Amino acid sequence: MDKIILRGHHLLCTRLFSGNGYHQTFTEHMKEIVVRIGADKYKKFGAFPQAKELQIICGTDDICGKCPNLSGKKKKYCILGNEDVQKKDRLTLEYAGLLENGLYTLEEAEKGVKRISREQFEEICGSCRWYGEYCRYEELF
Ligand code: SF4
Repeated sequence: MDKIILRGHHLLCTRLFSGNGYHQTFTEHMKEIVVRIGADKYKKFGAFPQAKELQIICGTDDICGKCPNLSGKKKKYCILGNEDVQKKDRLTLEYAGLLENGLYTLEEAEKGVKRISREQFEEICGSCRWYGEYCRYEELF
């Protein structure tokens, strides 16, 4: 699995992941993804081969695949609602200067995240239950 499919706002979630999640299966899978997309601070979560590229989308991705909130015949819907998370995806892509369905190296995606300002981060994440408690702009970089 050289390529990881990531929804836009998960570029932020993966950088701010602290080891908490919905349940154990989800959390263990999340640990693998965050190690595979390369931030050094996540090496503590295990040794997994680094991915070569990310495909950035606005919809369910490789992280959602293990989420207990995923529903629907094709496992495409979040029982917590899709509109808000898709808005987060779109805003993240817009502010990071990345394109939906684009293929990016880890470095290119990282550069994109670094374009996001504090105000833009607050706009993207302000409605999330983890905002402020686990996720703060200062810890994004
Ligand atoms: S506040 Fe929510 S959406 Fe934003 S990075 Fe944290 S978990 Fe992800």
